[in-house]
Amino acid sequence: MTEIKSLLFDELQTKLQALDEPVYRASQIMDWVYKKQAGGFEKMSDLPRTLRTQLAQNFSMGKLDVVRVFGSRDTTRKFLFRLGDGNLIESVLIPASPALYGQKSDRQTACVSTQVGCAYGCKFCASGLDGFSRNLRANEIVDQIIAIERASGEKIDNIVFMGMGEPLANFGNVMRAIRILNAPWGLGIGARHITVSTSGLAPQIKKLADEPLQIRLAISLHGATDEVRNQIMPINRRYNLETLLSACDYYVERKKQRLTFEYILIASVNDTDEQAHLLARHAHRFSAKVNLIPYNTVQGLPWLRPSQNCQEKFLSILRTHGIPATLRREKGGDIDAACGQLRLQTKRMQGRHPERRAPESPVALPSK
Ligand code: SF4
Repeated sequence: MTEIKSLLFDELQTKLQALDEPVYRASQIMDWVYKKQAGGFEKMSDLPRTLRTQLAQNFSMGKLDVVRVFGSRDTTRKFLFRLGDGNLIESVLIPASPALYGQKSDRQTACVSTQVGCAYGCKFCASGLDGFSRNLRANEIVDQIIAIERASGEKIDNIVFMGMGEPLANFGNVMRAIRILNAPWGLGIGARHITVSTSGLAPQIKKLADEPLQIRLAISLHGATDEVRNQIMPINRRYNLETLLSACDYYVERKKQRLTFEYILIASVNDTDEQAHLLARHAHRFSAKVNLIPYNTVQGLPWLRPSQNCQEKFLSILRTHGIPATLRREKGGDIDAACGQLRLQTKRMQGRHPERRAPESPVALPSK
């Protein structure tokens, strides 16, 4: 079975030709899949019944069940999804993102996952605690946005690849998903409203720079020296800071874009004045914006959030250097929104107490 939400337009046309169907049907089918977001082929009422049967026999619509939805007081909502093979992934809907990724505050941002688990083992992150299972397929990435839109009734117009997994380690599937999200026949989300985040895979940053789409790049820096990054991000031992920054030079040169540096502030690890001054220097090199994110405590990990005073001081040092920087009020801290925590808690609860499995689908999706 071919996953229809993993196909590009011309690929669907080729498949239709192989089924002796006219290629113009591709427009109708994509319209049902992405604009009307039909849940099944039988709903595609302007297609001949024989074609609907053919489609159902040859293509799959995919399966992404909502397991749990957590809404926080500030209306950030976190979704725990079950994939067709039973694996769990997380996505987050952030209704307003003032200056977070350079967008206006009325945007509906979806933060999506790209892998089940993560192999990169950043020391502060819950996603890697249970190791890596597998890459998500393109349709599983696209389906997160569709499922969020259906469950929330909101139109997503901004996407950040900052959920579970390292997006650039799943390069082919992520790029395929981005093409589908961006295409006029797909979800039609502007490339400049799509941000890919990486922990520092330097070769893949260059590969991304050679892609024609003007998507945005965010670097999860989290340390302004090799010493600090080596302590919390094992990837830095493979691609050290200068290798990473050189790849960023290439990206900026090719794309003529500003970068964003993500920087999780962790008490007594990366929150010193010296780190702030060095971070400002790196940001200056790329005219980059800096998003400071106070650490969200993860059960079982030793790291702590710096005091409010310390956070403000770090921010003020960056601003003294003229760096556009924001300090995120952690939306969703009250729903364990830090990457990977909800999945980990659910998996552990199921492992220890199989009788207390999370409900299958407590949230009903609106039927199409
Ligand atoms: S921060 Fe990102 S790259 Fe690092 S372990 Fe977590 S998911 Fe993986």
